[in-house]
Amino acid sequence: MDTDIQDLLNGLSDFVDAVVVPLENGNAHLFDHGRNFYAPNGAYSEPVRKLLREVRERSAEAGYYTMFAPQDIGGGGLGPMALYEVWRHLHARYGPGRILPYASVAHWSYAPSVLCSYLTPTAKERMLPAYLAGTTTSCFGMSEPDAGTDAWAMTTTARRTDEGWVINGTKQWITNAPEADWVFVWAVTDDELRRARKGGISCFLVPTSAPGFAVDSVIKLFGQAGGHEGIISFTDVHVPEDALVGELHKGFPLAMAGVSTGRLYNAARCVGMAMWALDRAAAYAAERSTFGRPIAQYQGVSFQIADCAVEIYAGDAMSRDCAARLEAGEPAHTEVAMAKVFTTEMCSRVYERCMQVHGGMGLTNEMRLYDGWHTARIVRIADGSAEILRRNIAKATIGGHRP
Ligand SMILES: Cc1cc2nc3c(=O)[nH]c(=O)nc-3n(C[C@H](O)[C@H](O)[C@H](O)COP(=O)(O)OP(=O)(O)OC[C@H]3O[C@@H](n4cnc5c(N)ncnc54)[C@H](O)[C@@H]3O)c2cc1C
Repeated sequence: MDTDIQDLLNGLSDFVDAVVVPLENGNAHLFDHGRNFYAPNGAYSEPVRKLLREVRERSAEAGYYTMFAPQDIGGGGLGPMALYEVWRHLHARYGPGRILPYASVAHWSYAPSVLCSYLTPTAKERMLPAYLAGTTTSCFGMSEPDAGTDAWAMTTTARRTDEGWVINGTKQWITNAPEADWVFVWAVTDDELRRARKGGISCFLVPTSAPGFAVDSVIKLFGQAGGHEGIISFTDVHVPEDALVGELHKGFPLAMAGVSTGRLYNAARCVGMAMWALDRAAAYAAERSTFGRPIAQYQGVSFQIADCAVEIYAGDAMSRDCAARLEAGEPAHTEVAMAKVFTTEMCSRVYERCMQVHGGMGLTNEMRLYDGWHTARIVRIADGSAEILRRNIAKATIGGHRP
């Protein structure tokens, strides 16, 4: 690994250990139970939001929070290789079922990202100072109740007025929507172009304080008491002309611009989370005995550990290759799709095995393995489902593409 990246990982871990972990430990009651973690409406409770903001702000001061945001808006401009290593490292070190350590680095879909480079100068002035400082956050409003995989089927509209635009529609599955101060929302601005799939969708920046904007509900997953995704609606939400992000009718490519980064991020966290689980399963197998021997001595157990190691190595090697290609300026869409499919499915298999190796202990809240399994399960759908990615990979492969 590049020594600069290794120094970055060391500095970031020092920051998380010194600043973030004590905040977590000092507020353990908030993280122990959904009752304290979530507010009655299912969004994060106020003390949790406050802690998240504190971590973001302190990380921004320390220079880590915006390290992957573009330089032209004041970010660090670090590339895909560093992005892969940082997210893999954080997940391998801090594991699943925690949120504060991960708030130290701006998330590609709800914090400063490449989208900000396309803001108008006045929107930049309005939004960026508090956003780059970690005080405010955003969300990425593309999916709708009837437009998930097929995002072109969206029905949210933005109609021109004398002063700007008026937006109407509903968005679903929007991560961080219950907490966000801003929404990047995609809406139809020319239905003919949209139906021909040649454009006609534009992106707008909307403050969540705008009259007519509402978080209709928080989506709860896996029996939890709350969640991080929301259903949001726009009822005659007026925004000025300068709320347009990027070019009119060309919002779709803008949304896709961050997609490779998002998929690489997901590969990184799946490889990292899988490494974390394997470390625990290997240690447990060595220490837990049945019939007078450590369970690691039974092939039924040790081969499960070997299979995890093989698959993690394969996923890590693929993902690093993708990061290197993206770093060199190659679009690598097909390879990134392959890495996302493989690492997300691999992570689910690793968690299945590591839970099994732990016996009953593997199912307990204390071990946090179920949390990693949940996350891996989610990522097989979000940010490009395994099926749609396979469809893209098949199309490229049948068309002659080879990695
Ligand atoms: C936790 C989570 C967070 C999310 N965060 C965001 C966010 O922040 N912003 C945002 O805009 N969206 C977000 N999404 C939405 C996500 O992008 C969609 O869930 C995803 O695109 C799938 O859409 P869908 O759920 O409507 O499934 P559908 O599109 O209804 O698909 C249902 C099933 O059919 C399969 N399928 C569909 N079409 C095909 C095809 N042509 N060939 C083969 N199989 C097919 C799918 O793979 C899936 O298995 C999030 C989703 C989740 C679960």
